[in-house]
Amino acid sequence: MAKKAKLPRACPPECGAECCRYFALEIDEPEDEVDFDNIRWYLLHERVAVYLAEGCWHLLILNACTALDALGRCSRYRDRPNLCRAYGTDSCEFHDHIEFDAFFETPEAFDEYLAKEGLTKRRRVPSPRRSSK
Ligand code: SF4
Ligand code: SF4
Repeated sequence: MAKKAKLPRACPPECGAECCRYFALEIDEPEDEVDFDNIRWYLLHERVAVYLAEGCWHLLILNACTALDALGRCSRYRDRPNLCRAYGTDSCEFHDHIEFDAFFETPEAFDEYLAKEGLTKRRRVPSPRRSSK
């Protein structure tokens, strides 16, 4: 019978493998209406958020890894990706909660932030035009 992989000893069972239930990608700081419109589009999707922390903007995808088993363990622990191998408990969210400077789950929340920061009024973004050759 195959052995089941275990979480590293430092990961307490009550954590529930939080770090395997999302991923976040750093994105460029939004600077103009085209960028703002892209962020609104991200936020129209389910289980997606955008946040600002320590001066960096991130797109947060709140979907669990498919390798996570029903008991919250990695079913491919020995063959897990390098990103997982490099991730440690030193700065994980269970031990050290991230402090967000801003966190958005809806386009409306993002627009409120823009208005508060005096960054923009909501405008239509011109559609990409076809070449008229
Ligand atoms: S690294 Fe942190 S968030 Fe991930 S399972 Fe261990 S304690 Fe939980
Ligand atoms: S491969 Fe394993 S360690 Fe990596 S995110 Fe998925 S369940 Fe977690």
